[in-house]
Amino acid sequence: MRDGHPDSYRDRLGIVDTEGGRRWIYPRKPSGRYYQMRTALSCVLLALLFGIPFLTVDGHPFMLLNVLERNFILFGIAFGPHDFYLFVLTFITLIVFLILFTVVFGRLFCGWVCPQTVFMEMVFRRIDYWIEGDHRSQRRLRESPWTPQKAVRKGARYLLYFFISFLIGNTALAWVIGIDQLRTIVTDPLVSHPGGLAAMLAFSALFYWIFIWFREQACILVCPYGRLQGVLLDRNSIVIAYDYLRGEPRGKLRRKETRSHGDCIDCELCVDVCPTGIDIRNGTQLECVNCTACIDACDTVMEKVSKPRGLIRYASAEGIARGSGFRWTARVVSYTVVLVLLLVILTLLLLNRTEIDVTVLRTPGMFFQEQSDGRVSNVYDVKILNKTFSPAAVTLDLVGAEGEIKVIGAPLTIPSQGVREEKILILVPRAALTGISTPLTIRVSRGDHEIETIRTTFLGPGRQE
Ligand code: SF4
Ligand code: SF4
Repeated sequence: MRDGHPDSYRDRLGIVDTEGGRRWIYPRKPSGRYYQMRTALSCVLLALLFGIPFLTVDGHPFMLLNVLERNFILFGIAFGPHDFYLFVLTFITLIVFLILFTVVFGRLFCGWVCPQTVFMEMVFRRIDYWIEGDHRSQRRLRESPWTPQKAVRKGARYLLYFFISFLIGNTALAWVIGIDQLRTIVTDPLVSHPGGLAAMLAFSALFYWIFIWFREQACILVCPYGRLQGVLLDRNSIVIAYDYLRGEPRGKLRRKETRSHGDCIDCELCVDVCPTGIDIRNGTQLECVNCTACIDACDTVMEKVSKPRGLIRYASAEGIARGSGFRWTARVVSYTVVLVLLLVILTLLLLNRTEIDVTVLRTPGMFFQEQSDGRVSNVYDVKILNKTFSPAAVTLDLVGAEGEIKVIGAPLTIPSQGVREEKILILVPRAALTGISTPLTIRVSRGDHEIETIRTTFLGPGRQE
């Protein structure tokens, strides 16, 4: 598109110069109410990220996401391969939630909660401001020749970046393998855990590279969620938007001039603070991570020129065009219904999830046997899955029927997170049989606690006349 066309900005990326090279972004340090709120939320999120791996319940991690061994602990409850259906459903719910959330609230997640934004804008960018000064000083330092002073500043920055990346890398590993195993890797001789050490260094190097060099490109070029915005957002989605009806025609503020322009004084502060290098006045763009920096910048300007805040604000394109608020569209309603249904199903499945799963099936190919004491016996296969962290001693007995259950082999004690398969013999007096197939109920207990009851059938020669 030719320069000057209203949509010509779509031909360019803020992070790429006219020669196709990298254009380093040095955003002005943001300040304002949204920045303060995001800072507070980031502190909470960082405390959770770094603190949760240290939390334990009965000696086990409170949260563990061991994707390698398919071993997960969520809120102190162990989940394993046997809970695959729950993971699938949770994953689907998460995807639907993200879609619905994005349709309604745009990239709110990116600006407030995404770890990339939290670390980039709230941790590493602050280090830049602290060591190298505000945006102009950073740019000057980059373009200046190497001097001892520049080497010290750059060196301090690289060191701090690596130290924090190392912390993030270790924390990421702690979420996967648990803090105890991480502690072992850290305290044992280096050669004892080559795999763990390699993972630790790989994580640290990856995070260092992302934050020192890749930076905002992660959101603009790589993030799949960012890529999806083009299909998910519509004119009713809440995004960070410039009120062009109020702002245009923009024009510089000049002393003693009778102002015939809109409220935008074309100060470009909203562009200066943008960490992805865009001008939000051009409209919603894929690069916008909803960081709110431009809202704060413009609100400050509006206060100075005695205009109402909110020239840039959270609003939908439709809302700005019509001057109306949020509307429930058919798409939003249908997504909400699907999401609520999925959440209800997921909650029911979680509430009904047992810690010990037991199946009792009559052994295929085996018929009944008549015993010398007048009783009839059937052989059953029992499979018991213990999902808990402690060994479980399980007992089986008949409910409301005469008879006895004998375990063939050792008592049914199942190791933590283990499976036990055994054969059992059920013996019933012939007189108690109601036909060739008599229904039976087996109670499964762990100590005094009844786990479940299982219905099965018992084969016999028929009722004795
Ligand atoms: S900060 Fe506000 S007034 Fe200044 S250029 Fe941006 S929109 Fe216009
Ligand atoms: S346009 Fe505004 S909200 Fe979007 S990334 Fe830039 S500063 Fe942040």
